[in-house]
Amino acid sequence: MLNFSFYMPTEIIQGQEVVTRNGDRFKQFGTRALIVTGKRSAQLSGAFQDVAAVLDNLGISYQVFDQVENNPSTTNVVQGAEAARQFNPDFIVGIGGGSALDAAKAIAVLAVNDFAPECLYHGNYPNQPLPVIAIPTTAGTGSEVTQYSVLTIPEKQTKVGFGDRTIFPKVAFLDHRYTESMELDTTRNTAVDALSHLVEAYLSRRASDASDMLVEAGLKLWARALPDLKSAAFSSGMRDSLLTASALGGMAIAHTGTTVVHALGYPLTYFHDIPHGKANGLLMAEYLRYNLQHARSRVEKILKLLNLKDIGEFAELMQILLPTDLRLTPEQINEYGIAASRTKNASHSLGEVNSQVCIDILNNSLG
Ligand code: NAP
Ligand code: FE
Repeated sequence: MLNFSFYMPTEIIQGQEVVTRNGDRFKQFGTRALIVTGKRSAQLSGAFQDVAAVLDNLGISYQVFDQVENNPSTTNVVQGAEAARQFNPDFIVGIGGGSALDAAKAIAVLAVNDFAPECLYHGNYPNQPLPVIAIPTTAGTGSEVTQYSVLTIPEKQTKVGFGDRTIFPKVAFLDHRYTESMELDTTRNTAVDALSHLVEAYLSRRASDASDMLVEAGLKLWARALPDLKSAAFSSGMRDSLLTASALGGMAIAHTGTTVVHALGYPLTYFHDIPHGKANGLLMAEYLRYNLQHARSRVEKILKLLNLKDIGEFAELMQILLPTDLRLTPEQINEYGIAASRTKNASHSLGEVNSQVCIDILNNSLG
């Protein structure tokens, strides 16, 4: 019997100029929009100009909150929520990478729920969050199709995600042209985040036939983009493949969650400023190695779909895509490993991911 349960309330519209051609999707949510973005990417990608033209054309008034930081903090989304309360929008349009989209979701909740950001993590929001339209400009997080928002919590010195079905974006517009302005490093780092979601969903306790199908399709697309990713000669076909692979990875983790790879990656971002996708990529070969004892055939399937002969070749690929001179001290390894082993993400991994397993993954990757 198939293990097939699936929930994906986001309408996904993919193709060139989908924003311009689907103005009705904006109109259905009201007459006032708050656009939530980072400082530059929305403009650089051209997505902002397209959205502004559509909103003007429809007579939808809008304001822009363009202060989203990378790896947005709880303080940052509170600022966005204040901007939202002042303007009183009917809906939110998030434009950007995972940071802007995650901030958009948190702001959608906080704009209509007058509570401290800690309450985001408790669910059961008294008021229904504002609808979110998501327009990714990176091809990596899949946030446009997930119920998650990952925020940096300064008091806890780490990043913690919250998830709630009410924050799935209502519509995701996928136009790979918006990802073309990404620089080489961001393109590779975010592509590796998409790969990480696919790999982690496949090597998760919560994997199902439904998530496996998404992963296998996503890995094939990712493999198709790989030659361009390596050579840094990016074609529009490669951009399109990665954007779809990213959304498939997002849909997969919407069902499985992520694993210890993400849990171990967060301190690398928080304490060492390693971009999110890169942080995962630095650890992924070791996660594959760890999983040989639990799901050898799944690890082999991943490598096969990526056209790689073994984990050694996978590790070499990560070194090419993600050059780093980061090395951790034994104290850092201990501290990060123990903290990661206590997370929910870690408990989604196969086998028993205790602190020693986490310490070993970190030590073998960055010791
Ligand atoms: P990001 O932090 O959103 O963006 C990284 C950098 O790339 C920023 O400086 C951004 O500029 C720039 N950028 C984005 N798109 C660009 C474009 N088209 N052209 C030029 N520059 C562009 O990176 P990300 O990897 O997409 O998102 C990472 C965040 O997502 C992390 O906080 C991570 O934890 C989270 N995440 C969420 C989920 C989920 O399911 N919700 C899953 C995985 C990861 P601006 O500052 O100007 O925007
Ligand atoms: Fe991620």
